[in-house]
Amino acid sequence: MGYSKDCMNKLPDINTNFPEWYQEVIHQAQLADNAPVRGCIVIRPYGNAIWENIKKILDDRIKETGHENALFPLFIPQSFIAKEKEHIEGFAPELAIVTHAGGKELEEPLVVRPTSETMIHYMFAKWIQSWRDLPLKINQWANVVRWEKRPRAFLRTTEFYWQEGHTAHATKEEALEEALLMLKEYVNLAQDYLAIPVITGKKTKHEQFAGAEATYTFEAFLMDGKAIQMGTSHALSQNFAHAFDMKFQDKDGNIAYPHLTSWGTTTRLVGALIGSHGDDRGLILPPKIAPIQVVIVPILKKENKNIVLDAVNNLYKELKAAQIKVHVDSDDSRSPGAKFYDWELKGVPLRLEIGERDIIAGNVIAVIRATKEKKVISIVELSSWIIMELERIQALMFKAAHDRYQSMWHKSEQLKDFSGELSKNNGIYQVGWCQLYVCEEQLKEISATIRCMIESKELQKCFGCGKPSLGDVIVGKSY
Ligand SMILES: [Zn+2]
Repeated sequence: MGYSKDCMNKLPDINTNFPEWYQEVIHQAQLADNAPVRGCIVIRPYGNAIWENIKKILDDRIKETGHENALFPLFIPQSFIAKEKEHIEGFAPELAIVTHAGGKELEEPLVVRPTSETMIHYMFAKWIQSWRDLPLKINQWANVVRWEKRPRAFLRTTEFYWQEGHTAHATKEEALEEALLMLKEYVNLAQDYLAIPVITGKKTKHEQFAGAEATYTFEAFLMDGKAIQMGTSHALSQNFAHAFDMKFQDKDGNIAYPHLTSWGTTTRLVGALIGSHGDDRGLILPPKIAPIQVVIVPILKKENKNIVLDAVNNLYKELKAAQIKVHVDSDDSRSPGAKFYDWELKGVPLRLEIGERDIIAGNVIAVIRATKEKKVISIVELSSWIIMELERIQALMFKAAHDRYQSMWHKSEQLKDFSGELSKNNGIYQVGWCQLYVCEEQLKEISATIRCMIESKELQKCFGCGKPSLGDVIVGKSY
């Protein structure tokens, strides 16, 4: 069946104009809309349903790994932010500050939280007295504000939603173990659910979180070869504990400072999802994260409407009972073609078409969004087939994204060898580095950065100075 052209709003070409495609698909699939405040977006129900699925998966893991959720204030006294020197230097340009409230000027301005280390550590200092109070493992789901100069829906917004985990431990080893454990949880979320391959490693000193000792990151490369930091996990050492006078009595009766961690990931994951899968028809959502996994489109004619709707209703109940997220589009004011177009745009993994002839034959027609395949499936075995098929789609989407990484992944010796190609076509560049900022800084000229230091040493020389490399890094251009 052809599409009725009147409902089509053609998307920009994904291969030649990815940034436009990205903005337009968000708009047309009704994931989000622009807000009247610059840099802010309104996340619409369909976009929020994706975020809620991500939240649910991650929240379960956060709890299963021994953390508890709590809620801290949106406002932070300005003096708190200033307590940790690097923290204030890093965040100062992005802060939104409230100076007036209740009809008068405040004695101390309040910062709208850009992150909650300072508030949470202030409270930790009150709660932690003895080694028995450790480890303390708290998570918060919240919104934060960082003034954004280059906003882009989901990927960079002034206000965004996230979770921030904050933990305190008796030893440095335990804190490092925690930071790496949560990084692993993030990687599982990205790869097993979002079907996004990620590259993990440590951020350089220059790129790490303001106030951290070590920042671990997981990075994705979108379809245009640009990198996006999907989230981070920080080993904070004792800097913040000193700044907030957070102390405890250890087992030997000595006074010690806890070792802290923090880790977070945001609504940016939705942006990474959009930008990792998709085609000229719109979104392609992996089954494990899709708000609707299967949409049934009944092919209705006046004379057989009730027969078809009865059969569809039975199928709906059966699929629902099999824990499949199914939706029936029985709106008879729109043509089947218009509906097909819409559900493809929204990236629903599987579409079932069913008319009277199919019912008589005992079949439905299944169309797979990711591959555009069309299959005839017997109604008797439909739910078991769907469960298998959704798993297959999930796996092949990850593989497709992984293959794309392979095709854009280059190893290179010197900056002059790859700078032209990287600035023109983006991509993933694995290079050696001497770990000096003077070399890292040279990447600014091509608007690239070291995304992370990886556990590999294949390249012998630093890309910048040619001196011996201390380990490989991944270089790319970012959003
Ligand atoms: Zn160098």
